[in-house]
Formats: sequence, C-alpha cells, structure tokens
Amino acid sequence: MHMLTALAEFGVSGAIAGIRPLDAFPNVTDRLGRPEKSGRISDDRPWPQWFAYGDVVAETCACHVINKVSIRTWYDTVRIPAGRPGDFHTLAPATTFQELRLAFSGAGVKWHLVAQEHRLPQFTVETEPTGLPDVVVHFTFATGEAPVTDDAELHSVFAIESVHMCP
Ligand SMILES: [Zn+2]
Repeated sequence: MHMLTALAEFGVSGAIAGIRPLDAFPNVTDRLGRPEKSGRISDDRPWPQWFAYGDVVAETCACHVINKVSIRTWYDTVRIPAGRPGDFHTLAPATTFQELRLAFSGAGVKWHLVAQEHRLPQFTVETEPTGLPDVVVHFTFATGEAPVTDDAELHSVFAIESVHMCP
C-alpha cells in the first residue's frame, strides 16, 4: 500500500483502515483487537480518550462513539492497521500538496481549501467523505513564505464529525 492511496481513501471515505468517525469503537476492537496504547485527552476528565493502532489514533467519548480519527504523519514511517490484530502496513509518510492533489484527482476525490484566519505557515485542504455528511477530513500542509505551494509537505491529517451529542 502507498501512503497516497491510503490518504485518497481517507479523503473519499472518511475511514483509514476501516476506522472512521461516528462508528462505534467496539466495531474497531472486534476487528483489530485491543489498541496498542490509549489514554485520556485531558488529565482531569475520564473522557474523551484516545486509542492508537500503530500511527492511527481514534478519539472517543464516553458513549464509545468515534469523534475523530487522525494519522500521525510526522514520523519517518507511518504504521497503518492491515485489517487483523497486530498486523500493520508500514508506509513512508512524506507527501507534498502536489502529490496529494494528483492522487485526489486520480481517485475522483473532490477537495477545497479551508479559509484560515490565523497567519500560521500552513494551509488546509478539506474533503467531504461520500455518505458521511457530518464528517470532514482535513489535510494540513506546512509552508514556507507563500500561503499555498505545490511542494508544501503534509503535516497532519484527521477526520472529524460535527453531529454527535453525548446524552
Ligand atoms: Zn458521546
């Protein structure tokens, strides 16, 4: 598997290795087993918590609904679950804006730039996964001086839902 393939699938489906926002977390443990690591997002509250399978991290609330799924892309290699407990694809994460745009184009993924109010040296591309109207996927690129450049490198990726309300 190539990183660009995984990212294009994430953009169009909102899922990486079948892990997606608004799914019930037990569906993930049924398939992939226990996470390698987990913890609280905030020290002073029991929920939400994060659960890591390689470099894919799911965040859930106390309802065990997945609220956010991110991929840690800032290491030299990225491990993505390969569908069975303890089995991973190891990918090279380095991806430029131009490469991702071409991968999106090849896979028919629609995207747009997110307007940003801050002046950080980065920009974000958003996709709206098919069949998940309340989920967006953000791909954030680090830049030098120019706001948007072809050779900007992928800095972070996450899918997030905007509809779940804990009872
Ligand atoms: Zn909840």
